[in-house]
Amino acid sequence: DEDPRINGIKTKIRVVPNFPKPGIMFQDITTLLLDREAFKDTIDLFVERYKGKNISVVAGIEARGFIFGPPIALAIGAKFVPLRKPRKLPGEVISEEYILEYGRDCLEMHVGAVEPGERALVVDDLIATGGTLCAAMNLLERVGAEVVECACVIELPDLKVCNFTLSFHSYPLVICT
Ligand code: AMP
Repeated sequence: DEDPRINGIKTKIRVVPNFPKPGIMFQDITTLLLDREAFKDTIDLFVERYKGKNISVVAGIEARGFIFGPPIALAIGAKFVPLRKPRKLPGEVISEEYILEYGRDCLEMHVGAVEPGERALVVDDLIATGGTLCAAMNLLERVGAEVVECACVIELPDLKVCNFTLSFHSYPLVICT
């Protein structure tokens, strides 16, 4: 049975057709953030799932993983590590390129931010193809961390999770739109 809080969260996510380009149904979480109850419920659902799981690092994906990741990290007693787009981090980085529907993109992480053997949670707002989450998991695994799970607020149901790496990990999809 679905948690009764989930429907309240779903109703606060605004869907904007044809943004940022024609054909895309953009899932806008800024309207969820405006509702303090739905925002808190979202964070609480993740915290209830991950507290006591010995997770020492929450890795948030730019940009909306920077909104949901830090409150989860604080509540479960973990540190927060930003995974950023290229040329944003000032220190030494490791990079992971990934393929998008059109073109390619890249995520970077500071060297030394995560130690070998650490237990990590990856956080983003939305999973579509899973390519972004896979790149994040690869970064963490390359420095010897164990990715416990990936957490997203939204799953796009029409798009298959095409990247096989994800099938080795479970990830909770609190909301399916
Ligand atoms: P993917 O790598 O295909 O799983 O895409 C997930 C990433 O793209 C996340 O960082 C999302 O924030 C963003 N994204 C993809 N599709 C949408 C959408 N329809 N609405 C909002 N964000 C999206």
